[in-house]
Amino acid sequence: MNITWHEQTLSKAARAKSKSQKSYVLWFTGLSASGKSTLANALEHRLHASGHHTYLLDGDNVRHGLNQDLGFSDEDRVENIRRIAEVSKLFVNAGTIILCAFISPFKRDRDMARAILPQGEFIEVYVNTPLTVCEQRDPKGLYRKARQGEIRQFTGIDSAYEAPDNPEITINTENKNVENCVDELLVYLQQNNLIHRNELLGNGNIPSCRSMLT
Ligand code: ADP
Repeated sequence: MNITWHEQTLSKAARAKSKSQKSYVLWFTGLSASGKSTLANALEHRLHASGHHTYLLDGDNVRHGLNQDLGFSDEDRVENIRRIAEVSKLFVNAGTIILCAFISPFKRDRDMARAILPQGEFIEVYVNTPLTVCEQRDPKGLYRKARQGEIRQFTGIDSAYEAPDNPEITINTENKNVENCVDELLVYLQQNNLIHRNELLGNGNIPSCRSMLT
């Protein structure tokens, strides 16, 4: 192949600095209806409101465009995640905080995505909502269809979900409202210097780190 990598001289750090932020991927994984899209969307609003430059990539939306040629075979699922991870890497290079909401049920696929991103720039957010709760919520009626056999290979019903062993963040959404969950995510980001300091914890919207952790 006559393709060579063209070195760019404007760095990722320089691009991110022009937005006064660090750039990285927040990768939300969990069962269908666990709350990935809801939380990623609400978190993006909070980050945007405090001056961060963000972008949200969501499962179904990507399949309408970039990945419209892919189905749900094992091979296609891997390719789906690979492309999303590569696109995420471009956004990170552009200096953006990217939020990805994909069931991504298999560890090896998430590990592949992690390996595509530089160390420390892939933050796995495990939305750990019990299957019974997801099934009760069933906002799109998909669990009902899966139980009736109208959808095959549905994660949690007749296809496995492999929970992460060492996610950077675990959120259990059962018995918590969306804002409380977003607050937990913001505390993590602030404690790890991933968002502007003092802007979020100091504005009265979310409790101090100490009260979140005790
Ligand atoms: P997913 O993207 O994981 O498939 P969705 O975000 O589409 O899940 O759906 C989650 C559903 O659960 C929504 O109807 C949302 O309103 C509801 N929900 C209730 N409590 C929470 C919470 N704490 N966090 C996120 N979603 C919640």
